[in-house]
Amino acid sequence: MSQILIIYTGGTIGMMSDPNTKVLKPINFDQIMDNVPELEKLNCKLKIHSFHEIIDSSNMNPAIWSELAGLIESNYDSVDGFVILHGSDTMAFTASALSFMLENLNKPIIFTGSQLPISAVRTDAKENLMTSIEIAKAKKNELARVPEVCIYFDYKLFRGNRSFKYNSSKFEAFRSPNYPILAESGVHLRFSQNDIRHPKENSQLIVHKNLVNDVAVLKLYPGIGPKVVEAILKADVRGIIMETFGAGNTTTDQWFIDMIKDAINSGKVILDISQCKVGTVELGRYDTSRQLKEIGVANGYDMTYESAVTKMMFLLGQNKDPQVVKNLLEIDLRGEITVS
Ligand code: ASP
Repeated sequence: MSQILIIYTGGTIGMMSDPNTKVLKPINFDQIMDNVPELEKLNCKLKIHSFHEIIDSSNMNPAIWSELAGLIESNYDSVDGFVILHGSDTMAFTASALSFMLENLNKPIIFTGSQLPISAVRTDAKENLMTSIEIAKAKKNELARVPEVCIYFDYKLFRGNRSFKYNSSKFEAFRSPNYPILAESGVHLRFSQNDIRHPKENSQLIVHKNLVNDVAVLKLYPGIGPKVVEAILKADVRGIIMETFGAGNTTTDQWFIDMIKDAINSGKVILDISQCKVGTVELGRYDTSRQLKEIGVANGYDMTYESAVTKMMFLLGQNKDPQVVKNLLEIDLRGEITVS
């Protein structure tokens, strides 16, 4: 019989409305289980780990990601897969972070949650939870069907580091426009076998627990001035995510290019990702990105914002030279980018 570890971190799935204030607040895991008697029929053994502090995922942080990675490591050999209950607000960040932290993963890590609490009459939580468990235990020829860090929500399975929360009011909370879904659930559970990543044969899990949050974000807009750009570039951080226009373009004003150049020369790594949710950065395609390429800005291709931030934290945590970090940012490590 398959064994699945359910890790409960918090989120709406396990919240209840306070009768006095009407504010949604976390409840404990037993109360969640009471709402899903169907779990008994799943024909698998469920182990439960509830975090000491149950949180709204807006309070998520890299220390908890390390704790999660440690928990997965210590249970890795004894279970077939993991289901992580997590708030949807920052789920894509946690899933992206975990994808980088868990190298050579060969078991499913399925993040899920819901838009309505599990006790609500019209809740989406039950389907999300039940199907996540089904996916976590799914095997073919004794091997896990989806040995990846994923998000399951509203009948779709996404690669974690390709997805983002795009809707706060529909059940369809997530999308991954730059990568196909890995499975879809309907009358049948259909896996897109060709889009699922598998680790190299006989490779062993390596867990990287050290993330460094020395990261800042520079989001461009027409009219951004030297004061704002300087404040961000001079912040005491080692990595900067630059959210640019279209295919990775920025203003060509000399003061801007000079500031970026100085920041890189001072040892900072600057990663160019686009404000567009679909498509890819193509440094050098337009004159408005040619100089960025020449001065050593890293190409983020079609990476999500969530992946960019967590990949930067992960690589900075490896204590590598800025040039090595830049090179690794541009390489597909866990299926997070499409390098053409
Ligand atoms: N605020 C909640 C959270 O992220 C929203 C959710 O669970 O969907 O924890």
